[in-house]
Amino acid sequence: MPKAKSGVVYLVGAGPGDLDLITHRGFTLLGKADVVVYDHLVNPKLLDFAPNARHLFAGKRSDSHTLEQPEINRLLVREAKAGHAVVRLKGGDPYIFGRGAEEAEALQRARIPFEVVPGVTAAIGASTYAGIPLTHRDRASQVTFVTGHTKEDGFEAADLPRRGTLVVYMGIKALPQITKKLVRIGWSPRTPAATVQWATTPRQRTVRGTLSTIATLASKVSAPAVTIIGDVVDLERRLRWFEKKPLFGQKIVVTRSREQSSELARKFEALGAEVAVFSTIRIRPVRVKPIKIQGYTHVAFTSRTAVEYFFPNLAGDARSLAGTKVCAVGDQTARALIERGIKPDFVAAEFTSRSLARELSEQGMKGAHVFHPGANLMNPEFQKVLAKSGAKVTDLILYRIDKVAPENVEAVDDADWITFASSQTVRNFMEAVGNRPIRAKIACIGPITAKTVRQYGLKVAVIPKKFTFDALIQAIAKSI
Ligand code: SAH
Repeated sequence: MPKAKSGVVYLVGAGPGDLDLITHRGFTLLGKADVVVYDHLVNPKLLDFAPNARHLFAGKRSDSHTLEQPEINRLLVREAKAGHAVVRLKGGDPYIFGRGAEEAEALQRARIPFEVVPGVTAAIGASTYAGIPLTHRDRASQVTFVTGHTKEDGFEAADLPRRGTLVVYMGIKALPQITKKLVRIGWSPRTPAATVQWATTPRQRTVRGTLSTIATLASKVSAPAVTIIGDVVDLERRLRWFEKKPLFGQKIVVTRSREQSSELARKFEALGAEVAVFSTIRIRPVRVKPIKIQGYTHVAFTSRTAVEYFFPNLAGDARSLAGTKVCAVGDQTARALIERGIKPDFVAAEFTSRSLARELSEQGMKGAHVFHPGANLMNPEFQKVLAKSGAKVTDLILYRIDKVAPENVEAVDDADWITFASSQTVRNFMEAVGNRPIRAKIACIGPITAKTVRQYGLKVAVIPKKFTFDALIQAIAKSI
């Protein structure tokens, strides 16, 4: 029998929550993994970067262990012995209170090759994102990471230093007991203290007090949270930045197709928002014969997606557009053309397909033949307006927009904002949510989408002056 190739296990620190805080090495290994075994504190979006791997949940919360530690160890050994590249993805850093050491020991005992990739541990994530430096020339020259949850279930304060900075992990339930013990060993009850929950994520929350008040102030905070104790905590007042972002704490529902939503979602997240992608449509290409563009006087792009699907279907290459006027409906569409080396001859001042048709008509379109690639749900107005001015329009369906049932309808209930980029998504969305009350404010990319929203008896809070995503985002930020 041929000897199975030996597998390997990578113990990878996923970082404290923010997707971007994983190391480059960790990220690269995810892309190559056959199997990913992940914990509950790991940002689940990281799994999208391991598309070819099996994703196995190992669980582990302090109260409901999903897999016991020995079972996790056995799972790692078994998968590696089967010849797989296994990424064991752990919250924060693998060797800080994460039982990563026990997993490494089990691998060593079973003679499985392993490597360990560091991660940003919760203390460092909380410190930086809350604005509490852990050391400071005038305030703290040492820092101690301590767990509030030991095997014996009692917090051992006796051996701890009496100065510098302490960061308590897994101590949120025992905070009253922990703070009392620290005072008993000599810490001043007036020592500043802060509890940081869900550090580095849009749900981050910082509660600041003193050793004598923090347990009460943080009594409603639940795990995961770390408590930072020491004079450095005072700096938070001046150094906080993350929780000050313009959209921080706002829950925003983005209603676009899955394929298109991630860019918009990332832009909202960069401003501190928590984003739920609510997919009501899916975009799929339609097979067509190679497009011979030479016979047309104009080609009109009324969406960015149309540009994306046009070029792969064009007979020849971009040079075949030489004799044809290229027209675009707005900045996004124009940009998509420029990215492909084509400067549009005409960009509509108003960003709707009807206004593109109108503006073209004003230029005199008698005898023109316009090629109009688009989706199955084209706005008939485009043809109508141009026909009136004596132009002929040939539509070609290059992609289909299909309705899909969204998986996360509940996201609507506690959203602060819902964003719409087309009338069709409004209709699909309203159908999907049914009778659920909508309390969120609504932002629409333009007046036509807004009109559709109003037809459902809902108010529109924001329409940007320019009908682009960046303008939409800015308009929301301004209105808060
Ligand atoms: N290996 C992890 C720690 C695992 S123990 C690390 O290096 O961060 C789990 C504890 O970590 C939680 O109870 C909490 O105290 C802390 N923690 C993990 N993620 C956190 C986050 N995003 N914000 C605050 N605390 C966090």
